[in-house]
Amino acid sequence: MMQSALANDLRRAFPALALRENEPMKAHCSFRIGGPADVFAEPGSAEELRALCGYLRAHGVAATVIGNGTNLLVHDEGIRGVVVHLGERFAAIRREGDTLIADAGVTLARLATAAKDAQLAGLEFAHGIPGSLGGAVMMNAGAYGGEMKDVVAFVRYLNADGEIAETAEPGFGYRHSRFADSGELILGATVHLVPDDGAAIHARMMELWAKRSASQPLDRPSAGSTFKRPATGYAAAMIDGAGLKGARVGGAQVSEKHAGFVINTGDATFADVTALMARIQETVQAKYGVWLEPEVRIL
Ligand SMILES: Cc1cc2nc3c(=O)[nH]c(=O)nc-3n(C[C@H](O)[C@H](O)[C@H](O)COP(=O)(O)OP(=O)(O)OC[C@H]3O[C@@H](n4cnc5c(N)ncnc54)[C@H](O)[C@@H]3O)c2cc1C
Repeated sequence: MMQSALANDLRRAFPALALRENEPMKAHCSFRIGGPADVFAEPGSAEELRALCGYLRAHGVAATVIGNGTNLLVHDEGIRGVVVHLGERFAAIRREGDTLIADAGVTLARLATAAKDAQLAGLEFAHGIPGSLGGAVMMNAGAYGGEMKDVVAFVRYLNADGEIAETAEPGFGYRHSRFADSGELILGATVHLVPDDGAAIHARMMELWAKRSASQPLDRPSAGSTFKRPATGYAAAMIDGAGLKGARVGGAQVSEKHAGFVINTGDATFADVTALMARIQETVQAKYGVWLEPEVRIL
């Protein structure tokens, strides 16, 4: 299907759907890299999402779901078909007892702040992770000793038949959930928290934020840690130990502040980043006998 024909068909089928054509993905990824998506759609409800995914599947149109784009490396050629963005249009939060029930598009920062305001502890670790709830559940995001698996009680998702379902068993592992392989779309989650004093929760959030900003290049475009933690040791220490701090390919550079981050110094391309990642993998393998697996998701 031609790109504008696809967009026009979608406009007819979903008059309320927010939709853009030829949308530069670099505007939606923290790496600031990536060519255009044929169509960029932002559903506003679980029902609209369900109907849209059913339509795309029935018409054989490729669909790629993204959240806040903070763990993505997108090709300079862009993405064919429809990118489904779950962001602030799909980001309601409600409280039930000691749980918060939230849509996938809510940012972890906003969810952690809502928990603090509700005097509920447990999401302090997540406050500084710049992703959405959906992306964080998909990756079992974690930091400073906490992980999504510690707080997520239920995940709502679109199952293989395109129906809305809920599970208490998301198959969490290290930076992994069953949703990473299943292609099922996460609609939201219920997080179980613990009552605590709001000021104490706030103090813990600020303490972790200070640690994060002291050690990470937060002022430079990146997708966070480029590689997963290997079975032994730490990726950043190995990259540093292999003499790669500051190493560059084109506009991509190993951060001088944190060797675990590849940063975009301004005009990095997809090819620059992947060539630098390959150089890191080969150099670390030669020195430590460890093959680093990417944490960044390549689209
Ligand atoms: C400066 C910086 C610091 C970071 N620090 C951390 C950290 O401390 N800990 C950590 O774990 N991560 C960290 N990250 C990485 C990133 O923020 C997390 O992996 C986050 O969970 C990604 O969420 P997202 O919404 O941005 O997902 P995206 O980047 O949009 O997508 C990531 C993957 O999830 C899939 N996905 C997204 N939403 C859904 C959905 N609703 N249903 C199904 N699949 C979906 C996408 O298809 C893609 O494969 C950091 C990143 C940056 C830039």
